[in-house]
Formats: sequence, C-alpha cells, structure tokens
Amino acid sequence: MSAETPMPTPEQQEIVQRSVDLLAKLIAFDTTSVNSNLQLIEFVREYLQQEGLDSRLSYDETNKKANLWVTIGPDIAGGVVLSGHTDVVPVAGQDWSSDPFVMDTRNGKLYGRGTADMKGFVACVLAHTAYYKSLPLQVPLHFAFSYDEEVGCLGVRGLIDDVTANLPTPRAVIVGEPTSMKIIGGNKGGRSFHTVVTGVDGHSSLPQLGANAIIAANRIITNLVEIQDRLIAIADPNNGFVPPYTSLDLGLINGGQASNIIPARCEFSWGFRGLPGEDMDALEQEVREFIDSQVLPDLRAVSSATSIVTELRSDVPPLEPDENSAAEQLVRHLSRLNSSARVSYGTEAGLFQQAGIAGVIFGPGNIEQAHLPDEFVTIQQMQECCSFLSKLGGWAASPADT
Ligand SMILES: [Zn+2]
Repeated sequence: MSAETPMPTPEQQEIVQRSVDLLAKLIAFDTTSVNSNLQLIEFVREYLQQEGLDSRLSYDETNKKANLWVTIGPDIAGGVVLSGHTDVVPVAGQDWSSDPFVMDTRNGKLYGRGTADMKGFVACVLAHTAYYKSLPLQVPLHFAFSYDEEVGCLGVRGLIDDVTANLPTPRAVIVGEPTSMKIIGGNKGGRSFHTVVTGVDGHSSLPQLGANAIIAANRIITNLVEIQDRLIAIADPNNGFVPPYTSLDLGLINGGQASNIIPARCEFSWGFRGLPGEDMDALEQEVREFIDSQVLPDLRAVSSATSIVTELRSDVPPLEPDENSAAEQLVRHLSRLNSSARVSYGTEAGLFQQAGIAGVIFGPGNIEQAHLPDEFVTIQQMQECCSFLSKLGGWAASPADT
C-alpha cells in the first residue's frame, strides 16, 4: 500500500479476507478456455443469490459456457461495469511448484492458475457484494464475468450485445486485468490467422515434379517480416506503446515429413497486434493479395489441387486511449493516480468502447506473472484492489459529494 493509504478498518479487513477465500474457491475450478466454465458461473450465481441478486446469463452456442451479468443498485443507465474473464490459460507443459488449481499461500503471495489473470480481480469484486448491497447506490454497479477471453475475447461479445440491446447503457467499464493497480488507458488490438499451404509431394531429388509447401510458406512469412519492417520504420516512438509499432506475431509453424520428401503441407499461425488507428483491414488485404498474386500461381502451375487457405482466428479491437473518458476520469479520481499507460496485449476493453461504453484497465497482480508457471497475486495487491472497490462503492452512493 502507498504511504498515504490509511489503515484498513475491520470491515475492510473482512472484505479482503473474503476476497482471498473466494479466490481459493475460484482457482479450484479448472476453467482453462477449452473447458466449460459453468461450474464456476453456477458457484458465482449462487453466491449472488444469497445476497438476493438475480444474475443474467448469456450462453455460447454449445450451452457449455456462459457470461454472468448482475446489477446492484437502481435499474438505470450510467452505471459502472466491473469486468473480468473467468477463463484461464493452460498449465500443460509448465513446471509448477504446487498444484495450479489449489491456491497456495507462500510469503504473502497467493499462487495458482488465474490468481493474477484474473480471478483475483473477480474475487475482490465478489467480496464487495454485501457491502455494495448495503449502500444507497445512486449509480448502479454491474459485475460482468465472461468466458473465452484468452482465445480471442469471444464470450464478452455476446454479453455486450445483450446489455446494449436489452439493458440501460452503462457509462464506463473497469476491466480488471493485472496492471499492478496502475491505470492502463489504451491497448493494442490484434488480428490473428492460420494459413494452410497445400502443395504436391514427391521425391526431393525431383523438385520440378512437386510443389514445396514449406517454400511457399517461407515466401509468405518473408513478406510478413517485410511488412513488419515497414511498420517499424513509420512508427511514432513517442506514442506510449512498447513496442511503438504494430507488431507481427508468428508463433507456430508445422510442415513436412522428412528431409528427402517434398512437403505437401505447411501451416503456420500469424497475426498483427495493431496500434489504435491501424488499418487492420488494409494489412490483411495486403497479405491476402500477396498470397494470391505472388505465391499461389507458382503452386497452381504444378497442380490445380494446390491451395493456400488463410482463416481468421481472432479479431480484437484496440482500446483507444482517452484520458478524459468517463472510465479513466473515474479511476483517476478514486485512485488519486494522475497518469495512465498503454499496453501491447489485447483486452475486452476495446469491445466495450466500440459499444459506446468508455473503458479503462485497472486490476491487481502483475502481467509478468500471467500465463506463466507459479502465477501469483500478492495479498497486498488484493488489499489495494479491495480498497479501490470500497471507494467506488462510496462514490456510487453519493457521486455528487466526491
Ligand atoms: Zn486476462
């Protein structure tokens, strides 16, 4: 806690303890994105039910995943959304010191998959349910818990559609991704693809009879790197993003069977993390045109059965920084922080912003621990988050006084 933070009252200490207890419960649900999140959602729904709150669920098409939305306070527009995703990234292949789905406390740190990203925030929010219920809220507070954030911010889209179509529009959303309780006012977006090159196999001593899928993929990748170099050259180094350019993701490639067989198949995953304002449609179009005009004809000259298929895997809009937005102004006011930064990873905040709900990213835990083995959030970060959320309740009860 910072020097000017007063000693927590017994009531606040109780809320922090409740948030830690809740975090242990949330961690125990293995909500890796590939799994259903319904057990966790059901737990949260029952928890809120005990406080007399009815949750609103929106499901995916398989009915195995759901978003949860609940409102505390008046049924009016202008509320503040506290948003967190319920899914976590996989632990497969990671070397953990303790069971990632059993919260372990060591030296003031709470370990477990999702402690930082971002069940810690969800636990802090839930721990405030009774407190918020006890206040004469003039501004409604909404909890929004989504599924499938880690695989392209998929779930929250349905939640936002439901809210904007059927409910009074909130003024602001606080997305509690791990920012070490610093204000993040903007983030890059991202568009990712998977490309499958299908050539013609053959004996490697007779390359003229085959169509080498790895060579074709290599030409596409070289083009991607050239685009990246161009984007680096035109970047504004003072735009606040690190790195300050729209950057290339190229994280997976697979192809071929043996060194002496012409490969008939090569596939790779790629994408761009775009700055706010980047024309992602134009970038995508440029790559597709290069493939169609420069690479595919050479494969087709060998066989009409060859192909290059590029599938869009995810498309997350950026959060455009806006220091004067309702979201950032509110968090600055309550936290007494007077600056904000920008990050290069995608969040759900840009989707809320697209829907006309101002967004800011502000939550406990450090992004450096997210997605890694021995992920943790410190109890101190949980305390700071709870302190902030308590102040938010006081503001929502008497917004004119503060
Ligand atoms: Zn996250």
